[in-house]
Amino acid sequence: MRKAFHIVLMGPPGGGKGTQARLLEERLKIPHISTGEMLRSAGREGTELGLKAKALIDKGNLVPDEMCIQLMKTELEKPEAKNGFILDGFPRTLRQAEELDTLLDAEKLHLDVVVEIQVPDDYIVDRVVGRFSCVKCGAMYHEKYCLPHVYGKCDACGGTQFMRRIDDNIDTVLSRLAKYRALTAPVLPYYESVGLLKCVDGTGTIEEVKEKIRKVIGH
Ligand code: AMP
Repeated sequence: MRKAFHIVLMGPPGGGKGTQARLLEERLKIPHISTGEMLRSAGREGTELGLKAKALIDKGNLVPDEMCIQLMKTELEKPEAKNGFILDGFPRTLRQAEELDTLLDAEKLHLDVVVEIQVPDDYIVDRVVGRFSCVKCGAMYHEKYCLPHVYGKCDACGGTQFMRRIDDNIDTVLSRLAKYRALTAPVLPYYESVGLLKCVDGTGTIEEVKEKIRKVIGH
């Protein structure tokens, strides 16, 4: 099987995309591109775009397609994107999927595989509401399933400050999940129809899911 480097990770909020994208980035040495992370960072910087996005994100709504497409365009034009990338959280609508094709064509790139991490709704709330991350490096943890090995100290970078996302609360998660089922899930048949879609069961441990992803991407 051909080595897959241009990868899209899809799946519901809290399904493990961010965690798995980081592991892939480490292993394959290709950039992890997360529109959610870019938007949150713009929100922290307090730019006009960032504040507009933050208001939508905090309520569990999607940010307008145009804004995310523009962010993605900038990333795909960077030379690093030529050797591969892991897209996490983009595309989230059919329009974004179509625009992604156009952006890739313009850069003479194409997707190698789209991995759907499948997680039933019942798992989501529990996973999302307990998660937190290292302020310094973004490594993800969970208060029940994945605590740092040393209390209060990030395994990855030794950082001692952690944060929770404002949108990781029950009401917002339910709204994000509803948006996922209504607007993002219809993107899956789009990729299935061109033979790019591979599905993995995302209910196991981080290591188990990592191994399943390794198998389906063939690298
Ligand atoms: P994530 O970090 O991927 O869970 O994204 C957090 C939030 O950012 C989402 O709930 C959306 O509000 C927003 N967001 C991230 N990526 C996109 C996108 N591609 N399209 C629309 N909204 C997005």
